Amino acid sequence: MIKRFKISSTKLILFMALYFGLVLNFGFWQFIAAHFEISSWAGYAFLLSLPFFLVIPLYIFFSLITLPYVAKPLLMILVALSSITNYAMFELGIFIDAEMFRNIVETNTREALDLVNLTSILWFVITGLFPIILLLDMKIIYSPFKTELLKRLKYIFLALLMFLCFVPVSYKEYVSFGRNNREVRKLVNTFNYIYAVSKHYKRQAEASRHFIILDDKPTISQDAKAEPKKLLILVVGETARAKNFSLYGYDRETNPLLSKQDIITFAETSSCGTATAVSLPCMFSLLDRKNFDVDDAKYMQNLMDLVKLSGYNAVWLENDDGCKNVCHRVTLEDMVATKNPKHCEKDFCRDEVLLEGLEERISKLNGNTVIVLHTMGSHGPTYYKRYTDDFKKFQPTCDGSDLQKCSREEIINTYDNTILYTDFILSSVIDILKKFPQYETGLIYMSDHGESLGENNLYLHGLPYAIAPDEQTKVPFLVWLSPQLKQAANIDEVCLKNKAEQGTYSHDNLFHSVLGLLDIQTKVYNQKQDVFQNCRK
Ligand SMILES: [Zn+2]
Repeated sequence: MIKRFKISSTKLILFMALYFGLVLNFGFWQFIAAHFEISSWAGYAFLLSLPFFLVIPLYIFFSLITLPYVAKPLLMILVALSSITNYAMFELGIFIDAEMFRNIVETNTREALDLVNLTSILWFVITGLFPIILLLDMKIIYSPFKTELLKRLKYIFLALLMFLCFVPVSYKEYVSFGRNNREVRKLVNTFNYIYAVSKHYKRQAEASRHFIILDDKPTISQDAKAEPKKLLILVVGETARAKNFSLYGYDRETNPLLSKQDIITFAETSSCGTATAVSLPCMFSLLDRKNFDVDDAKYMQNLMDLVKLSGYNAVWLENDDGCKNVCHRVTLEDMVATKNPKHCEKDFCRDEVLLEGLEERISKLNGNTVIVLHTMGSHGPTYYKRYTDDFKKFQPTCDGSDLQKCSREEIINTYDNTILYTDFILSSVIDILKKFPQYETGLIYMSDHGESLGENNLYLHGLPYAIAPDEQTKVPFLVWLSPQLKQAANIDEVCLKNKAEQGTYSHDNLFHSVLGLLDIQTKVYNQKQDVFQNCRK
């Protein structure tokens, strides 16, 4: 029998505070190293006080939770979670807040598994599992109740006193650094996720639960009721950033097929959020980015509801990570469930699965129709899984989820191949639409958010919007209209192309532009937000 290792509660609390403050906060320290410039003696004082600033609150926190019976399991859980968040912040540049927690809750296991790789496992074993084993094996010695209580109170008092000595000296630095780097609090490990989780659930509890009807009788004009019928395919992109499309001036040929189609490119388009969980419902919501709230949107009619109520067939073909409550009242088909052997692997499908049977589906249509294709696009970090070998044009590629192991060049090559594949998917959809001249057809493509590919050492997406770089928020917004639809909608193409090149656009435009293009009359339509409105003849 191995002799159990004994430690007094007082020492354990101190060790825990130091371990969390100095080791499990690498993300925080990395941020400080990158953003704080020492320009005076006060700067040195600030830097010296920072470890105390982090360790003392942790010390008080651990003093409160290190209690007989609950201490061990609680500490083990916190070590495990903090080890994972530490990795995410340090290696992936992720900030932990309520939005991030929502992404985690709404992410399926497949996406989470994509993040499991050798580096993340090593991080977890060394900074999580190893201390957990130590904790498991140790015997915590507590003093008798009264002595223990007095001891704790004494040390908490001393800790507070120390805090009050250090912080005022550098108060100015704390205030100015804090103000310029508001997001840094989201990197203070353990407190950040405790705060994020409680905020997330508080918000959910507060959100209005009455379903809001925007318009129970949207209609279509006599024109739209007559033949020919309209058919719009709305392609929702995933993680595609505008910067890497040659249509947006990228110096690599990533749009060889679309550049031959008659595409209208809306130059400067901003996403609503930096992650699917926010962007996707926002795109289909009447609420604009500033007023958007995911929980409110869930209990409110969206674009698809109005499209359907007006008399259109509304179909949602899902190949990504779910429609985030946007498609629940329209016809939904889960393409991943088809397990099509040509395009699907174990738990995901390449976007070609969306083309499968599309032509046949259209030929059987009856009436005005909107079909949404929710694509897998450029979903990371396993970019290499998004395309077939025919699209492995840019090489060498990064054929694993462990982005740290690949050079930036390899990561960008792999990402560019996903864009090349998306180019093929979109162009194929247009080619299919061209086979149906009996319809007034059109395609709108908009991505949900962008992606960081190593710029400023950031990867993936999901940064708080206020500090998110353009790579995460500038998205492609492309439109193709058949001659029949242009004519029916009275659209002056030259005008539209000019406007598209010069204006600035956002996800807020989608809702009203689709209503306008489809001739759907509803009181919530705002023509100022309709990108086609100013170019009607
Ligand atoms: Zn997304």
